[in-house]
Amino acid sequence: MMGEEALRERMVLLGKSLFERGFGVGTSGNLSARIEGGFIASPTNSCLGRLEAGRLSKLDSDGRHIAGDPPTKELPLHLAVYAARPRDGAVVHLHSTHATAVSCLADADPANALPPLTAYQAMRFGALPVVPYFRPGEPDPARIITPVAKGARAMLLANHGSLVSEATLDAAVSAAEEVEESCKLFLMLRGSAIRTLTPAQLDELAAVFGS
Ligand SMILES: [Zn+2]
Repeated sequence: MMGEEALRERMVLLGKSLFERGFGVGTSGNLSARIEGGFIASPTNSCLGRLEAGRLSKLDSDGRHIAGDPPTKELPLHLAVYAARPRDGAVVHLHSTHATAVSCLADADPANALPPLTAYQAMRFGALPVVPYFRPGEPDPARIITPVAKGARAMLLANHGSLVSEATLDAAVSAAEEVEESCKLFLMLRGSAIRTLTPAQLDELAAVFGS
């Protein structure tokens, strides 16, 4: 596991990178990562482009705020994923445009919103389930998110955005970017005859890359 100080610097850098490329606007989107004995997370009302390493929220292993600025109000979404995926070390939640657009589609398959379009989609996140809408501040999002997170490292929150976890913060950010770009491709192709990857091609990826 990366040391806390290095991880703080990494979170600042990756937040800035996401913001500058339009993956988060205003104060939308939040990041978190496991550290020894707990978590660090982006603070409430913070802009991903202007995080400060020394002000990131520090939480104990139960998610209680112990230092730094108060955490994002969406921390319960992150904790719901960590509860389901004890081996994952970081969670990225974005309101990026195309992922959010797909999360609003009435005909999205709740088990997987996207057809298999590219190899990187399959390798970086695989299925993209859609969890039902719940309002900001829903008292128990874990009830909705944890069961889905047990079987998927990426999901869409209906009419809201994406929620992605991975072993490291770098990998979680990469996967969240892949979710956004795959949703963009899917929307660009709506109405076109799509040649999707075949089950045999997906099996080959799983065999070679363990996706
Ligand atoms: Zn959100």
